[in-house]
Order: sequence, then structure tokens, then C-alpha cells
Amino acid sequence: MAHLEHKITEIAPKIWCISEYKLVNAFAIEGETGLVLIDATCGIGNLKETVRKISCKPVTILLTHDHFDHNGGIYNFPEAEIFMHPDDDGLSRSMMGMSPDGTYNGLRDFYIRTRGPVRCPEYAVEDLLALIPPENPRWEFSYAPVNHGDVITAGGRKLKVIHTPGHTDGSVCYLDSESGILFSGDTVNNSIILMRQPGNDMKLVKRFNETVKRLWELNTEYDVLAIGHDGTLMDKGIVKDYLDLTEGLLKGTITGEYQETGFRKGDVARLGKAELWYQCDA
Ligand SMILES: [Zn+2]
Repeated sequence: MAHLEHKITEIAPKIWCISEYKLVNAFAIEGETGLVLIDATCGIGNLKETVRKISCKPVTILLTHDHFDHNGGIYNFPEAEIFMHPDDDGLSRSMMGMSPDGTYNGLRDFYIRTRGPVRCPEYAVEDLLALIPPENPRWEFSYAPVNHGDVITAGGRKLKVIHTPGHTDGSVCYLDSESGILFSGDTVNNSIILMRQPGNDMKLVKRFNETVKRLWELNTEYDVLAIGHDGTLMDKGIVKDYLDLTEGLLKGTITGEYQETGFRKGDVARLGKAELWYQCDA
């Protein structure tokens, strides 16, 4: 079996991207007294070992949203304080229905089989499946709620919370003014998912439009986005692309079309670097 490891890349002084086999990213930010983790990956492979290569300081976890591919590795840090927006409460638990056998590892298995061949075709699915922890660890956790405008002080670093609903109700971005990096999770990256609304109602598109407007108004406070999937850093101009795309969809000057690609299907529209699955079925 090929020896697979999480890939660690330093993206700014004291800030690293941890790529979980190109399936999902977490980010580590080191301060004087601790290490802040933005998200905790899907929990495939040994995240604790990876994080300890970066720093042995106490860990605090800031979740961008409550999807299992971003918090599945929480079990590695039972001592960590965890922060999340309360509007996502119970969301990853409700996704257990996607697990073929109703187990946590069943969901990790599903994730590898569907995302692996698209996101990391260079790795054999069997090699990735072999990294699923045998003890079937849960990712349920208790957390401290964050709200829009909060500044979280952890480990000697300060991160500002920006509530950015759309992908999920409780999605947030974390702004690190010191580095000029916006940790954008699944709120803004190469390909954004908004679940299909009954009757193709555009309410969620409107909500996401308000989110990207909010992010673009703050754009003098950051230079780049550290994204949750498919790459590491993106120029902040992508936020403007999503703003223009959502404006166009709402005004009717842009219309998308139904597509099926890889593991994704639904109505999709594109502009510049932005790709929005705005009525997404899967
Ligand atoms: Zn997500």
C-alpha cells in the first residue's frame, strides 16, 4: 500500500494548511500559548499525529460549519474547546442517514468512495479506505456558540467571526487580521453548494447573496481566502465573482442549467472563477 499522509503546507508565518488526502482542508494557526484549528477534517488517518508535527501546544477548534467532513476528526482532541455557530446545531448528526450502515465510519467510507475518485484520483480508493480508524470514532461534541462580530481569543491569536449563511444556516468565516487571511470553509471556494429548495425557491440564493455582499464589504480586511476543498488559497476576487453571479441569478440576467458531474448534480451557474450549485440535489 502506498504510504499516505496528511499534507502540511505553510501558507503564512505560523499558519499551515492540512490537506486530508485532497478530500478536505483544515488549517492550523499557532499563537504564543496555543494552536487554533479551523475545522478538523473528516477524521481519516491520524490527524492528531499530523497536528503534533506542527505544534504541541493546546488545541482550540473553530468550526466553519457542522458538516461531517469538517468535524469528523474532532475525536483526536478530546480536551479541545470547540466553537461553532448555534444555527448549525445537530446538522452533522442529521446527515447520518447518508451512512449505508448507520455508523460514523460508514459515512467516512461513503465520502471516500464518492469524493476520492474525483478529488484525488492519484490515490487508490482502497488505500484511503484503509486509513479509516478501526474504532469507528464519533464526532459528536459540545461547543461554545459563536455569533456574528465575536472576536475569539484562543492560544494568543484573535479571530473575528463573520456569520455567512447559505451553504448551511450556521456557516461562518473566520477573519485573521494579522495575516489578512479569511478562512472561508464551504462558504466561498471553487464550487459552492446550496441545497435545492422546494419549488426552486430562490430564498437561499438571496441569503447567500447577502452573505457574499457582507464579505465583499469587508474585503479591505483580508487579501486571500483559505478554502475548505479543492485547493488551498484563493484570491479574494472570487467573492466579487459570487456577488455578481448571485445578483445575476436574482435579477434573471444569468440562468443556470441542470448538470451532473462527478458526485454533484443539480442546477449550476458559473461566472469568472465562481461556480454555484444553487439548486443542488446531491
Ligand atoms: Zn459543507
